[in-house]
Amino acid sequence: MKLYNTLSGKKEEFAPHGDEVKIYVCGVTPYDDAHIGHAMSYVIFDVIRRYLKFRDFKVKYVQNVTDIDDKIIDRANQRDIPPAELAKKYTDSYFEDMDALNIEPADVYPRATGEIPKIIEVIQGLIDKGFAYPAGGSVYFRVRKDPDYGKLSHRSLDDMMSAEGAMGSEEKEDPMDFALWKASKPGEPFWESPWGEGRPGWHIECSAMSLKYLGEQIDIHGGGQDLIFPHHENEIAQSESFTGKKPFAKYWLHNGLLQFGEDKMSKSLGNLVTIKQALAKYSPDAIRLFILNSHYRSPLKYSEEGFEAAEKAVERFTQAISRQDPTGGKGKALDAQPYHQRFIDSMDDDFNTAQALATMFDLASAINQAGDAGISFVEAQNVLISLAREVLGLKLPKEIYVEASVGISIRVTAESEVEVDINTPIEISVEEAKSWQLDAKAVTIGELIELRQQFRKDKKWQLADEIRLFFDKKGLILEDTPKGTVCKRKR
Ligand SMILES: [Zn+2]
Repeated sequence: MKLYNTLSGKKEEFAPHGDEVKIYVCGVTPYDDAHIGHAMSYVIFDVIRRYLKFRDFKVKYVQNVTDIDDKIIDRANQRDIPPAELAKKYTDSYFEDMDALNIEPADVYPRATGEIPKIIEVIQGLIDKGFAYPAGGSVYFRVRKDPDYGKLSHRSLDDMMSAEGAMGSEEKEDPMDFALWKASKPGEPFWESPWGEGRPGWHIECSAMSLKYLGEQIDIHGGGQDLIFPHHENEIAQSESFTGKKPFAKYWLHNGLLQFGEDKMSKSLGNLVTIKQALAKYSPDAIRLFILNSHYRSPLKYSEEGFEAAEKAVERFTQAISRQDPTGGKGKALDAQPYHQRFIDSMDDDFNTAQALATMFDLASAINQAGDAGISFVEAQNVLISLAREVLGLKLPKEIYVEASVGISIRVTAESEVEVDINTPIEISVEEAKSWQLDAKAVTIGELIELRQQFRKDKKWQLADEIRLFFDKKGLILEDTPKGTVCKRKR
């Protein structure tokens, strides 16, 4: 298995430190509802984690919640509520979204406010080793003391200085130094520390939590590309200076960013789409497929068409896994092994989900062709289901076929109401056929629905009603909806 490591700038063979793959992914700052950019990042790392498990790795996954931060304090002040209340509200909202998107919960979700002792311990250690210094009630990291600084973003200190316009302050020894501990301003939440009342900086949080829950060296550290500098660069500087062990994380994985037209999707540009807004329009499976249809390191362009295409793709998979095997699972069978292997080859190549999905579509088509040719495909369906559900985390509506009282097969969607496939053939009597001017041969439910609509259009109310009654006698109900007439089995 190969994965692209931002640290080396190359694809590398995956060789974790031990039996258990240790993954740390930077979490949210809960001051508002999470948006599609968050969905993108967490779906991607969810699939990476699922795939590692699929390949029989044991995985421990830790993701923090930055529940104290300037943004939280500002927003809470605007609303005149305590910062902790605001943070709790949006942390809950975030977990709801992750659950709706079928993202497996992390093994641990440490919160900054719950880890203050560990954070203070790491800061004190950095001071003791000369990598940090207290000043004016805050503590800063001495960037120029770390000769490796810049190794992740591949930039020199002077480049960063000019590009980022580092902010100098009277307290800091050097404009590049960053805060590990921030002295609290009046009215702000604070914790006691050896340097006075204050709160942790964002960067130190991740170093401390990763250290506490995963140990001194981890295998995979993930996050969006926008976190490479300064956040991840700072995490490396803090962790490696504190433990003296390198590398802090063996593989650094960064996902591309979500774009809206030519722009980044961001609060300041006012083009945010929240996960809740997207879920109101599209199924969770479609949202996952939309994200996974691009390579995780590429930027993803938000588009309604993209989501609609993803919805159709979900339907294609659902149909393929819902089809009934024409042989009852006996006889000549479709060989799914080559598809399974292609899927693994794609995922082994730096988690190429787009290519893996293409293989799954090929498999879905092969299932349909096998069905038409009377070849057994039940095994192939099982392969498709396991790849879709176990690795890509799709739910795919559970569909089963039941025998209805009329002796026809009815498609039942567990998630929705009991809706009958309108392509189902239905038998009509000679008299009915004559009355409705139809050939006596088999018609489908859909054709009868259309006929009823034609009668209504022609104001032949009695004939239209006859058809409704016909369905009624068979235990079926017609429902006129804005999308057209649907046929449901009586419960
Ligand atoms: Zn982080």
